[in-house]
Amino acid sequence: MAIATINPTTGELIQTFEPLSLEAIAQRLTLAQTAFEQHRQTSFAQRAAWMGTVADLLIACKEAHAKTMTLEMGKPIGAAIAEVEKSSMVCRFYAEHAARFLADTPIATEASQSWVKYQPLGIILAVMPWNFPFWQVFRFAAPALMAGNVGILKHASNVPQSALAIEQVFLEAGFPPGVFQTLLVGADQVGAIVADERVKAATLTGSEPAGASLASTCGKLLKKTVLELGGSDPFVVMASADLEAAVSTAVTARMINNGQSCIAAKRFIVQDAIATPFLEKLADQYRALKVGDPMNPDTQIGPLATPTILTEIETQVAAAVQQGCNILVGGDRTLLPPELQQGNFYPPTILVDIPVDAAIAQEEFFGPVAMVFRVPDLEAAIQLANATPFGLGASAWTQDDRERDRLIAGIESGCVFINSMVKSDPRLPFGGIKRSGYGRELGSQGIQEFVNIKSVWVA
Ligand code: NAP
Repeated sequence: MAIATINPTTGELIQTFEPLSLEAIAQRLTLAQTAFEQHRQTSFAQRAAWMGTVADLLIACKEAHAKTMTLEMGKPIGAAIAEVEKSSMVCRFYAEHAARFLADTPIATEASQSWVKYQPLGIILAVMPWNFPFWQVFRFAAPALMAGNVGILKHASNVPQSALAIEQVFLEAGFPPGVFQTLLVGADQVGAIVADERVKAATLTGSEPAGASLASTCGKLLKKTVLELGGSDPFVVMASADLEAAVSTAVTARMINNGQSCIAAKRFIVQDAIATPFLEKLADQYRALKVGDPMNPDTQIGPLATPTILTEIETQVAAAVQQGCNILVGGDRTLLPPELQQGNFYPPTILVDIPVDAAIAQEEFFGPVAMVFRVPDLEAAIQLANATPFGLGASAWTQDDRERDRLIAGIESGCVFINSMVKSDPRLPFGGIKRSGYGRELGSQGIQEFVNIKSVWVA
């Protein structure tokens, strides 16, 4: 895939970028390694001062950064501004808490002294997706750099300007050159970067095939990986739920980022007793969504990020119909106004009557398409919630304490949110199980992924 900014709203090619040569990559790695030798010696206070400045700079330029993201991948501008603000927040969080998370931890043993010590590993590679071009990078970089590591970023090929802007923020904040670098490289260059013995570990947020490819390369080299992959999160609504709240959150939870979020609610599993009113209200709210230019602050749904994603969604919806599903809302981009048909727009869509054993029920829809299933009771809801290869997040709606406890215990996922949509939060660990990946970002657990957890024993 060429490294380029292509406006998904219009299809216009804005700028292309040459991938780095092997020689240029080697120079960047040398700079990163030199920077690491210095950076690992700096105090938490010094790192926190730089990271706090990163947070300030993000806020100072939030509109400009937001416009870059919206231009490159089409998220509504208000959501892009909120993403810059959240990126600033994760920098402040680790600036404030990293020293505590990585403080020596005394452990009582028969030794005169024994404790756990946390030390940085070195150069960490982050392979990142385009859907949250700032947030995904900062949630990696803030803990990694605060821990004393240095970061190199291979961002998605369709968000090069975002990637370069992020590198610039770290430099302007005072982090020495080499502590955080953006490498404009294609996916085919990742293997060579990982193979360099100075690169100690890697993290990838993205699709299953990309994750598996990086993990297998790293596995052969015995290098650690953290993988944040796809999801087909369930959104369970029991008859006891607050229906109005569940429906309006269902719309937000599915439509976030034009439907292109790993933790978007993708499968709505509704108890029979309230399924009909749930669907009626959901369909009304879907039809009222404003699809259009994402630079317009009133727009709720912008274009999909690339023509490939649009084609995938169209192919999946066609397959769903062939497998017996019915379309309740949307399902055809020619229903959109002609001016939107230049870009990668797809209408908000609801699929119903989905045979639970249909192949499509196992797939992730990375766009504004909701699958709605009916179930008779709680156990059937949990069984269906778990009936995919994924296990990222889950949202469940109930006002019954027994149902709540059973849902929390029974759903197989990295997080469960009761009467709320799934969201990442710097204070809480984030990550998946099953084919959604492994390892955790955020929280105290996230900063401990890329450190040497060293046991010390003094007899
Ligand atoms: P993708 O194709 O896997 O791309 C993600 C990143 O991986 C890009 O930088 C891409 O580079 C790179 N890449 C692709 N193939 C690679 C390979 N063989 N080796 C090394 N790097 C490779 O992902 P996507 O389809 O754009 O993103 C959507 C997926 O990401 C969805 O499944 C979504 O659920 C998941 N996601 C997960 C999380 C999470 O936190 N769990 C968050 C966001 C998204 P190029 O752009 O150059 O191809």
